[in-house]
Amino acid sequence: MRAAVLHEIGQDKLEVLDDVEAVGFGPGKVRIRVRATGLCHSDVSAMSGVLPQPAPFVPGHEGAGEILDVGDGVTHLAPGQRVLLCWLPACGACPACRRGQSQLCLAGFMNAGTPNFKRPGGDVFGFAGTGTFTEEVVVDAGCAVPIPDDVPFDIAALIGCGVTTGLGAAVNTAKVEAGSSVAVIGCGGVGISAIQGAKLQGAAQIVAVDPVESRREAALRFGATEAVAPEALADAKQRITGGEGFDYVFEVVGRSATARTAYETTRRGGTLCVVGAGALDDFLQFNMFELFFDEKRILPSMYGGGDVLRSYERTIALWRAGRVDLESLITHRVPLAGVNEALEQMRTGVALRTCIEI
Ligand SMILES: [Zn+2]
Ligand SMILES: [Zn+2]
Repeated sequence: MRAAVLHEIGQDKLEVLDDVEAVGFGPGKVRIRVRATGLCHSDVSAMSGVLPQPAPFVPGHEGAGEILDVGDGVTHLAPGQRVLLCWLPACGACPACRRGQSQLCLAGFMNAGTPNFKRPGGDVFGFAGTGTFTEEVVVDAGCAVPIPDDVPFDIAALIGCGVTTGLGAAVNTAKVEAGSSVAVIGCGGVGISAIQGAKLQGAAQIVAVDPVESRREAALRFGATEAVAPEALADAKQRITGGEGFDYVFEVVGRSATARTAYETTRRGGTLCVVGAGALDDFLQFNMFELFFDEKRILPSMYGGGDVLRSYERTIALWRAGRVDLESLITHRVPLAGVNEALEQMRTGVALRTCIEI
């Protein structure tokens, strides 16, 4: 079958190969025909080496499709069922799951380091244990979450990571209060979803911060009340909050420099919500006086910061009610030529829809 493969970390071009096979099918597993996949910023971070990932690998961890086959012991799924792929399956039994924090379940990492694919040249890994830039994947049954018939595959794929992560950060983790002031630094698919979450929660001001003009324009369409380039953030803070700082600041970039800016942009007693996935060797500094004296709450948010299945259900309910716009998140081109080209090729001749987050 066909898959888009990154041969070495640090490269920016994927090669579409047609000799790839999904491996590992057996008890407790399911085989899925991928019908839609998204590109999340984490895929790009894994390609560049910011996030740890063995190579060669198939990027993509936001996907949806149909079950082709179920392994022994899988009783709740059947061939033909429409599912979205959850890259962080909850075991349901560990202390984190029992506390309703399935986003912290480590069960999905137990297979880390096990190849998901093979080809005549050797093993091929799948990003985050999935690898959705392909026609078929074999995953744990817990990674396949049934979706209602009215949810299209491309919408479901986005719910599988970016949308859940951004909305959840605003709703579950930060619990943005009505009437508050919010700044969101980094306006890709996750940042846009955090903006939509802040709007849902009733934020009065939502300032989108991004160096890319097209992203700032998009942020305004999704509910930001204003959008500024990073160099204009200090001025916006002064103008909107009288210099005090925002009630909530979301860091959706994953770098210590932007997290530090976000901290300084948060008001005393306000909330800094860290959503971006950063590198193991990128350290963020605070002095002990400011940490204590300014009483800013630093809240990291992983995969929406709450029960993942509940977050999916809530997103679907909000989407059906027209309260969140997921259709407009879908775009078919990214500014990464080597990825774009490969995805175009994946679309040709196979029914793989790509729903790339902006
Ligand atoms: Zn668990
Ligand atoms: Zn993701």
